[in-house]
Amino acid sequence: MPIVCKERWIKKLAGLSLENVRITAYQDSKKVVSKFGEALFTHEGMSGPIIIDMSRDVGDALEKGKVELSIDFKPALSKDILDRRVRLDFEKLKGKVFKNSLKRLLPSSLIPIVVELSNIDPEKKVAEITKEERLQLVNLLKDFRITPIKLDSWDKAIVTAGGVNIKEIDSTTMKSKLINNLYFAGEIIDVYGPTGGYNLQICWSTGILAARSYE
Ligand SMILES: Cc1cc2nc3c(=O)[nH]c(=O)nc-3n(C[C@H](O)[C@H](O)[C@H](O)COP(=O)(O)OP(=O)(O)OC[C@H]3O[C@@H](n4cnc5c(N)ncnc54)[C@H](O)[C@@H]3O)c2cc1C
Repeated sequence: MPIVCKERWIKKLAGLSLENVRITAYQDSKKVVSKFGEALFTHEGMSGPIIIDMSRDVGDALEKGKVELSIDFKPALSKDILDRRVRLDFEKLKGKVFKNSLKRLLPSSLIPIVVELSNIDPEKKVAEITKEERLQLVNLLKDFRITPIKLDSWDKAIVTAGGVNIKEIDSTTMKSKLINNLYFAGEIIDVYGPTGGYNLQICWSTGILAARSYE
């Protein structure tokens, strides 16, 4: 399911998709789940393949307490290498002000948010940005925090956990072990997989097996 987040500014990013990012969910500073791939900002929070994949773990953690999502926008670069990259960009853009210096690094809709959260004066000349400020920016790009508050509503779910227990189904026929002549296929069964076709495959495979087995 998509995840609803607390931050109000998130709606300004609605529709922005992120590729090759790592998102990690933390609870009490402990890692709950971490995924690499594509994600998407929505009007209320986040969605997209890796968010959908991690949503069950995030939902379970939310039942226990506060959760934070950390987005690493540049997972292929270590902090040192990213810092070097930012330094090179800043050298080339010395005459510009900070708010106009991140175009090579980030999608344009994300820039005002990153500028605001960086605590660096947007009008400051790039040449005047201190090392501490630059490292602050690098930290933000590697550990951009947002706060999930709940999973989105059922009507936005892609797949559902729960359903008929597989122990109650004969897996060679999909026939109920409890009720004669009752067969199960697809979402009604308590199985689910990550996004990427596994769930449709479960539905097709169990569907064809149930149909062929029906007496
Ligand atoms: C937006 C979206 C994107 C998805 N993308 C992917 C993907 O990329 N890869 C993947 O693997 N999975 C994906 N899924 C999940 C996948 O589509 C479902 O797991 C799959 O379609 C479930 O098939 P099903 O036949 O079990 O159930 P359903 O497709 O839900 O079919 C159930 C049918 O039963 C009907 N019905 C309900 N109640 C009654 C009733 N009382 N009487 C008669 N009929 C009834 C419903 O109208 C419906 O037609 C996606 C799901 C969504 C919503």
